[in-house]
Amino acid sequence: MALSDSSHVLIQELKSALGEAHVVTDVAAALPFTREWRGRLEGRALCVVSPADTSQVQEVVRLCAASRVPMTVQGGNTGLMGGQVPDETGQEVVISLKRMSRIRAQDSVGGTLTVEAGVVLADAQAAAQEMGFEVPLSLASEGSCTMGGVLSTNAGGTLTLAYGNAKAMVLGLEVVLADGRLWQGLKSLRKDNMGYDLKQLFLGSEGTLGIITAASLALVPAFPAKAVAFVGVQDAGAALALLQRTREAAIGVVKACEFIPDLGLELLTQHMDWTRRPLETQSPYYVLLEVDGHDNAALEAGLDGVLMRALEDGLIADGMRAQSLEQARLLWRMRHALSEVQKMEGASIKHDISVPLDVLPAFLKEAEAACLKAVPQCRPLPFGHVGDGNIHFNISQPPHMQGADFLALRPVLEDVVHGLVKHYGGSLAAEHGVGRFKRDLLLETLDPVALSLMRSLKQALDPHGLLNPHRVI
Ligand SMILES: Cc1cc2nc3c(=O)[nH]c(=O)nc-3n(C[C@H](O)[C@H](O)[C@H](O)COP(=O)(O)OP(=O)(O)OC[C@H]3O[C@@H](n4cnc5c(N)ncnc54)[C@H](O)[C@@H]3O)c2cc1C
Repeated sequence: MALSDSSHVLIQELKSALGEAHVVTDVAAALPFTREWRGRLEGRALCVVSPADTSQVQEVVRLCAASRVPMTVQGGNTGLMGGQVPDETGQEVVISLKRMSRIRAQDSVGGTLTVEAGVVLADAQAAAQEMGFEVPLSLASEGSCTMGGVLSTNAGGTLTLAYGNAKAMVLGLEVVLADGRLWQGLKSLRKDNMGYDLKQLFLGSEGTLGIITAASLALVPAFPAKAVAFVGVQDAGAALALLQRTREAAIGVVKACEFIPDLGLELLTQHMDWTRRPLETQSPYYVLLEVDGHDNAALEAGLDGVLMRALEDGLIADGMRAQSLEQARLLWRMRHALSEVQKMEGASIKHDISVPLDVLPAFLKEAEAACLKAVPQCRPLPFGHVGDGNIHFNISQPPHMQGADFLALRPVLEDVVHGLVKHYGGSLAAEHGVGRFKRDLLLETLDPVALSLMRSLKQALDPHGLLNPHRVI
């Protein structure tokens, strides 16, 4: 594709600002940044730039804004909604934050960590661990996703139950605005009511209102002991009742409560040779429960007590507690492999949804039955963060159907699942965000007043629509 004169000039200006090596125009070399990691989207970029620090991000944005060139912001490119890749026009400049990977400050007294946007979540976790703390966020993609990515998508994961989503840990942000100005809000204060809480605008807005360049995070204490149990239950109601009992027993911090249907276990043992069923008995669903605390013996005795009473009362059908850290890790590895194993089994249609906890059991029962009625022999595989109401309501293809034929039924199954989510007052975009894939859904379903407020914010902060255009709204 021939470049216009103005594009050519912009690329030269970007090269002078960042150095030749950090402005990639070659299509093949740009591919890791222009292709969504699952291959669901592949765009083209005018170029991919990798600024080294905040002032370079400002300079890139100023240059793009002056030429009215749209920008795509990217962290680790692990996002599931396609917001991090450019469109097919070849007009967008991709700004990769990955080079900005410095830990700026570690404050053990305040229990805070200040990181740049390109710090990989696992590296932030390691830095916190050095200090005797923990980052209150854990995702299966933590080895690749960046802090800028998790904050701009307000990622959830397995620790939401204990600590809330990513935004809950943020004390301050540094953000480059759409015209290149810097909002310096990188404070580490626990209390700061000086006017509007501006950082909230950028947390979860998926790079459409500003580019996060650094963040100050409130850490939580790291616990030396943990107990992990795997339990068979009849339904989500029993899973939630077990969670409630575990909390009431106050044996430690309930860190995670994850839901796995029997089909999930079945597929794991079929496709992955390192897995085996943790229990001798079979149940319709299982719960993976983790409680952390200070003393292993006390924690284990406490959790055993909860499980014994639940078994006696018929609340759970069977259960085991991991006997070693190794066994606990294996149970978690199985949980994290659930997405991968569904891919190995063929096509699947996914819904990242949440509903209020009190209606979750009814929702799941009705949704599974309605999907089976709509597409006989489809295989609902609802799994995930049952403790916070966020279920990945995935549906695997019928065993003897062609994958493409099943995927053609996406609108039918989406109608069924989304209809019930709405009926039960839930969210159609629980933790993965909106990006490109759910933008139309947001436009169709959001309250008009909410939509108009969002449009006003976008207009105020990015009047020319240059940051992550066509995402979210
Ligand atoms: C195996 C796997 C498991 C996952 N599990 C979970 C999970 O449990 N919970 C969950 O919530 N998500 C999960 N995800 C999704 C994904 O990891 C998260 O959305 C993560 O937050 C994305 O981070 P990233 O750095 O890869 O961002 P990217 O994919 O690069 O970008 C995601 C979005 O954030 C924007 N963005 C990135 N960096 C910045 C920045 N510095 N400033 C402004 N905007 C920016 C992008 O423009 C894009 O819109 C999972 C993904 C995978 C592959």
